[in-house]
Amino acid sequence: MLTKPLKAVTSETLEACGVTAELEVAGGMEVISPVTGEAVASLAAHDVAGTEAAIALAGQAFRTWRMVPAPRRGELVRLFAEELRKSKEDLGRMVSIEAGKSPSEGLGEVQEMIDICDFAVGLSRQLYGLTIATERPGHRMMETWHPLGVVGVITAFNFPCAPWCWNTALALVCGDPVIWKPSEKTPLTALACQAVLERAMARFGDAPDGLSQVLVGGPEVGAALVDSPKVALISATGSTRMGQIVGPKVAARFGKCILELGGNNAGIVCPSADMDMTLRAVAFGAMGTAGQRCTTMRRLFVHESVYDQIVPALKKAYGSVTVGNPLETQALVGPLIDKTAYEGMQAALEEAKGLGGTVHGGEREAVGPESAYYVKPALVEMPDHAGPVLRETFAPILYVMKYSDLDDALEMHNEVGGGLSSSIFTTDLREMEIFLSARGSDCGIANVNIGTSGAEIGGAFGGEKETGGGRESGSDAWRAYMRRATNTINYSSELPLAQGVVFDID
Ligand code: NAD
Repeated sequence: MLTKPLKAVTSETLEACGVTAELEVAGGMEVISPVTGEAVASLAAHDVAGTEAAIALAGQAFRTWRMVPAPRRGELVRLFAEELRKSKEDLGRMVSIEAGKSPSEGLGEVQEMIDICDFAVGLSRQLYGLTIATERPGHRMMETWHPLGVVGVITAFNFPCAPWCWNTALALVCGDPVIWKPSEKTPLTALACQAVLERAMARFGDAPDGLSQVLVGGPEVGAALVDSPKVALISATGSTRMGQIVGPKVAARFGKCILELGGNNAGIVCPSADMDMTLRAVAFGAMGTAGQRCTTMRRLFVHESVYDQIVPALKKAYGSVTVGNPLETQALVGPLIDKTAYEGMQAALEEAKGLGGTVHGGEREAVGPESAYYVKPALVEMPDHAGPVLRETFAPILYVMKYSDLDDALEMHNEVGGGLSSSIFTTDLREMEIFLSARGSDCGIANVNIGTSGAEIGGAFGGEKETGGGRESGSDAWRAYMRRATNTINYSSELPLAQGVVFDID
């Protein structure tokens, strides 16, 4: 609960994290909290020269950091996880202030950072390559993995810190410095995270200057990172539109790229589904974070035999969900990020109506000042898989459609551009396996009896098609932050050539 103006709460929270930056720069970039729609800070943005200086400093840091043994690099990440635990509440509050998430979701995002750090600490002793059988006697062949270089991380507003940490925890143990360009809508959380990491660096002792840096600014600052041949890897999270610009630019200079872009995630509700569990999973997947997760459930295909069971129950849940200020109430749904998001939502709902859709909810809620945008999540019964259903609208809209045959549902499921996350709700083993098979969901994440959102860090995270094909976080995602060398060593006194080639000189 708040008893003070939001600006004062913001600056106290930042101070608690250790932020010393100037937060009131005349004529600077305004940071607006979606909770009230009011400015909570005004920051100086980096220019191109500042970005180039940061890249140069990171390049120097790389020369030192790549020679530090990986388990020692892991020690820095272990200390960072300790500092994150100490600052969990403050960072969680910053996420709520800047992105409008409920306290539980704000804290959840920080927990995700702690989890990936713990994962990365273990990983720092497991950066292994293969030893491969060679056809030549007296030879040994192996793969080694080396640090890659400077990593540029560009992030979206809706996850203001966890994706940075997925990248940074891995990059640091892999031997790479990181330059972070957070969303221009959420730079304060970034400054807070950087301050917490700097505390860990001070305890660590000999981390080089420039190992982790934050660049404040909009797309132009991101573009300077993207264009620099001195940035070995660009990991960019955001809209498909952004990826369509960034991907080709990095490819043109033969840089490496991880793209984590938009999704149009769906669930399929089968006749045998556990209805209570399905209802709860769909409600969180579609309405949680006010529909502003890349993995938000946006489409639901319901078998005709259970449509009249699940849809009325969903309508009831939509009607009763609480919408409100995440800092002052226990509401489950917070604000949209801004007016543009609200207008995009209303336009999609109008388009759906024009195509015969029946809209339940979606109206603006009188919560907070006029400058804040709170909406009732919308459930839209659609006659066809068409129009706005085929694209991502970054707002809480769930389009519901009937199906009679699983193959038809799968066809529609895979028809869209996004390929991020998907779910099937069934207790039928055959349906479950078909969904997970080569002819099933074409997404990077395919779940059974779980909603589309809320992934754990242990698995590789990312999606196919217009989601960009990148993978971050767990599993073997670390390989993207390293370069691979194949080494063949001849310990014999002969020089046999591969494939039996003869080249004898006298
Ligand atoms: P956005 O694309 O508007 O901005 C994302 C980031 O890219 C920002 O930091 C922005 O400054 C930067 N940017 C924009 N244009 C750029 C350019 N030309 N060059 C360099 N940088 C540029 O996205 P948003 O509105 O902040 O976030 C919402 C979108 O992000 C949704 O589409 C959502 O699905 C997606 N998202 C995807 C994932 C994922 O992991 N797949 C996670 C979170 C969000």
